[in-house]
Amino acid sequence: MKMHHNISIFIPHAGCQHQCAFCNQKTITEQNNLPHGAEIKKICQQAMLQIPDKSKTNTEIAFFGGSFTAIKQSYMLELLESAQEFIGENKFSGIRISTRPDYINPEILALLKYYHVTSIELGAQSMSDNILLANQRGHTEQDIIYASKLIQEYHFELGLQMMIGLYQSTWQDESETVDKIIKIKPDTVRIYPVVVLKHTKLAEIYQAGNYHFFDNKQNSLDDVVAMTAVYMQKFMQNHIKIIKVGLHASEFVESDKIAGYYHPAFRELCESRIYRNHIEKILENLNYFKNQEVIFAVNNKCISKAIGQKKCNINYFKNKFFVNIKIKPDENLGLFEVRLLNC
Ligand code: SF4
Repeated sequence: MKMHHNISIFIPHAGCQHQCAFCNQKTITEQNNLPHGAEIKKICQQAMLQIPDKSKTNTEIAFFGGSFTAIKQSYMLELLESAQEFIGENKFSGIRISTRPDYINPEILALLKYYHVTSIELGAQSMSDNILLANQRGHTEQDIIYASKLIQEYHFELGLQMMIGLYQSTWQDESETVDKIIKIKPDTVRIYPVVVLKHTKLAEIYQAGNYHFFDNKQNSLDDVVAMTAVYMQKFMQNHIKIIKVGLHASEFVESDKIAGYYHPAFRELCESRIYRNHIEKILENLNYFKNQEVIFAVNNKCISKAIGQKKCNINYFKNKFFVNIKIKPDENLGLFEVRLLNC
């Protein structure tokens, strides 16, 4: 499978008329200048020189950060037009944008098609109207369903973004959101556990003692990793590509973080948990004796994921099943494939 690349251009909060409870992009925007046409061209020219020809056709110019279709049309057109000369044969494959579900309609999609937009990501965040309302999203579940259907009818690649642990959300809500997203059949998903940032409504609610994550229980990062791993498995079983899990450190100011579930290697932790789940399933159906060495093979590049950070998976099996797990490489195995080698 060919690797996909993005030339990421951040358009912070431009034109967004909303103030979602978790978003502090207005604060960030005050400190950043919005990029204009000349800057977009410069970024693309540099990327044309740096990206090898064989990778160009798998590369999109990606406008991320704000709600692209909600920005002032003259500015949106300036951005789209400045990217045009870099799209086509032996150049980049198209443009990727992210936006809100309530800023999608047939006219906008026709315009985006004309300007070679190929992928549209919607910030869905939750498929529960109550949670969307509690987090001041300003759109409904129905808006997400309608916009997704329209995007698919216009033959764009559809991506949906979901957040885990929003204000008033329960694990039941998260599972239902995953199931409803699967029903929509997007091409890609991004999963973001909530990070509570200063200067947001969520921060106010949290500081007032009214933000209780997940069912009013204390959930550790480990619990959130475990559930996210289950959701990832569900998406993969339904052939939905997971393009991102967890916020990147560059997406917020570290000193603004006051609560939530952030880890610099969040995705790696979840992938490691998926290996644990697969191995556990095999062990549960196996006859073995105490302290036996049980050997599994995984893909060469995934050995550290199978072992887990600080050998957490090996220790988990030792404590729970009283076995010594050994992991060997096998380049013929795919991602998350596990093969039992003895017993
Ligand atoms: S729509 Fe997007 S940019 Fe606007 S406030 Fe919400 S999260 Fe922030």
